[in-house]
Parts: sequence; C-alpha cells; structure tokens
Amino acid sequence: MRIRSIQSWRRLARLLHAVILLGLPFLKIKGQSALRFDISELRLYFFGTILWMDEFFIVLVATLFLTFLIVFITVVFGRIWCGWLCPQTIISDLTGFVDKAYRKGFSYKITSYGATFIISVIIGASLIWYFVSPYEFFGRLMAWQLGKVIWGFWIVLTVILFLNFALIRRRFCATVCPYARAQSVLFDNKTLIIAFDKRRQDECMDCRACVQVCPVGIDIRKGASIACITCAECVDKCGEIFSRKGRKGLINYFFGEPGTEGRIIRQNAVITGMLTILSFLFLIYLTGIRKGLDITIMPDYDFKPRLTEKNELINSFIVSIENRKKEDERIVIKTIDLKVVPDTIQVKAGELKKTRVLVIGKGDRDHVTLSFIPETGNAQISKEITFIKP
Ligand code: SF4
Ligand code: SF4
Repeated sequence: MRIRSIQSWRRLARLLHAVILLGLPFLKIKGQSALRFDISELRLYFFGTILWMDEFFIVLVATLFLTFLIVFITVVFGRIWCGWLCPQTIISDLTGFVDKAYRKGFSYKITSYGATFIISVIIGASLIWYFVSPYEFFGRLMAWQLGKVIWGFWIVLTVILFLNFALIRRRFCATVCPYARAQSVLFDNKTLIIAFDKRRQDECMDCRACVQVCPVGIDIRKGASIACITCAECVDKCGEIFSRKGRKGLINYFFGEPGTEGRIIRQNAVITGMLTILSFLFLIYLTGIRKGLDITIMPDYDFKPRLTEKNELINSFIVSIENRKKEDERIVIKTIDLKVVPDTIQVKAGELKKTRVLVIGKGDRDHVTLSFIPETGNAQISKEITFIKP
C-alpha cells in the first residue's frame, strides 16, 4: 500500500462504518429488525435470531467474546479502532468545519454549529432506532405520536451529542474515553503504533507539517502520546514531503519502536487470541443448544377442579408456550388415558401464547404427564402436573 493512500483507505473505512451504523436498523431479516433490543417485549432481535430475556446469558457470553476480541486487536494493532472506525473520530472528522469556526465570521459560526446540530439530531434518532424500529419511529413521528419518553430521549441525546461535537470533540479521546485509558495497560513493546523513526531524525527538516496536520495537536517526534488517535495524517504529510525526494517519510506504522524487531505472534497476543477463540466457540455452542420452545404450566386458579356428570375429574391449567423459532409451530398435547382440551396449540414464530388447557379423566392418580409434541419434528417436551380432586 502506498503511504499516500492511507487517508483514502481511512475515508472508505469510515464511510462503510457510518453506512452500516446508520443503515443497520433499517435492515429487516424475516420481517424483524436485523439488530434491535425491544424494551417493551424484552427481546433482542439479532440477525434473524430472537433472544428472550431469560436467554441473556448468550448476550453476556457474546459481550465477553467482544471484550476479548477488542483486547486482542488492541494488543496486536494498537489504536487502530480509534483512527479508523470509532464514531467519535468519524463524526469529529465529518464536522471538521467546527474546528475553524472560532477564527471565522458570525455567519460561518452559525452555519457550522447549525450543521453540527442537524447531524446530532440524526445521530440521536439513529441511536433510538436500535430500540424502536425506524419504520415505527417515522410512522409515529409523522402522526405526531412519538410519545413523551421517545421525545425525551431524543432531545437529551441530541443535546449531549451537540455539546460533544461542538465543544469537546477530540478532547474526548484524551480525557473521557475509557478505551484510550485502558490502552496504555494493554500495549506491549510489539504493538502496532505510529512513530517517528528516530534512526533517521537527522533527516527531519523541522517543517512542523506533521504537527500542523495533527487533529489533536501532538508532536509525534517527541514520542508516543495517549492523545494520539492513530489517524495517520502525520504519516501522509511527512510521506508527501519525502516522496518529492524519492524517499519514505520519517513517520510510519511500526510494530514496536522503530528499529526493534516486530512480532505479531508473542505471549500476550497468543493468550488474548486463545481467549477470543475459546469464548467464540462457547458462544457457538450455547447458540446451538438453545431451546426453540419453552413451555411452562401453572394451575388455573379461575377454574377449580370439578367432577362431571359422568364422574370424570376436570383440572384446568394455564399452558404458556414461547416459540423462539423463526417458523410457526403446531404442538399436539398427549397423555395416557386422559382427554386434553384443546389437544393442539398453534404458536406463531416469536410468540408467547397462554392457553387454558383442560385435562379430563378418571381421578385415580395424583400425577399426570403431558407430552407436548411439535409437528415440525423438534424433540417432544414432557411436563408432569398434579391432578387435584375437588
Ligand atoms: S513532517 Fe516530517 S520532516 Fe516535517 S517536521 Fe514532521 S517529521 Fe520532520
Ligand atoms: S500524532 Fe499523527 S497519528 Fe497521532 S493523532 Fe496526530 S496526526 Fe494522527
């Protein structure tokens, strides 16, 4: 890759990331949002899979996997996320005109802060779309029925984002961001960094172009800084100057300090890499064994046990069936010698259905086993109930 092409690749990566983050809530898979947590239903829609509240251990393991992945990437590739994909950097770059506002006229200030406000409104809404489907959001907005809670969140998010991108901007990276703080602990002497090649410091013309172009005002020649977001602007600038002389720039990406032998495979990288792989395999295993159906049976307190004219005992139960699959399910209920009414229950994909089920027969036993047999061929589920006499 030519040095001068780094910013083009960065721009492409940022554009793709922005399109994914803004567009993902609009993507539907099997009629549901690709990625959304529905607060009212307490369900997570995740690329065609529905995770219910009692399955959130899968989300916890997924979070563990992501944490190990981030640690692994940081150990090996340093702050690659900050310079290439972090939304704070992307939006700070997008609203770069704000950086010039303080030395421009009134109309420029109004226009640049106005544009930042509009961007904050859009990003605030996009964060809500991960909880309320954007299709529902726009429908309710058009009908002016967004509701106080959504309006409240939208306004608060917009204000926070506007203050962040109008005033704090890249200072966030060096002061507030916990990831930036954690990096100093995670880095080792072979982590990928942007550095000034001190072996060639005699060639530096002290033109300060690398300092002027730096969005956080660092002089990389003085050494690594926690504020550096590895945007590689200084790499491009110095490379541009030296390319006129047919030489490489003095600033570049290095695994460890320039001149030391860089190695990707080393103890820290292997340990964090193994933990990432193990947590990923555990996540796959948990996803593979998750139940498609969850059935619970409770006594029906509104229907007391009773005897029929034929001296048959009737017990009533409330059967709750959660269909966590993507297909509708028809479940047949069977038991030995006894009659079950109804003996089939239809549950739509993603539905939680509660049905009153009557069990009728001779009251000559205390316990009865009900077998729930899904017609799609999934494993049958057996539940024992207590048969109560009046
Ligand atoms: S841009 Fe290159 S030559 Fe100029 S001051 Fe920075 S390191 Fe030295
Ligand atoms: S030192 Fe270079 S890589 Fe770091 S923030 Fe400044 S311009 Fe970007």
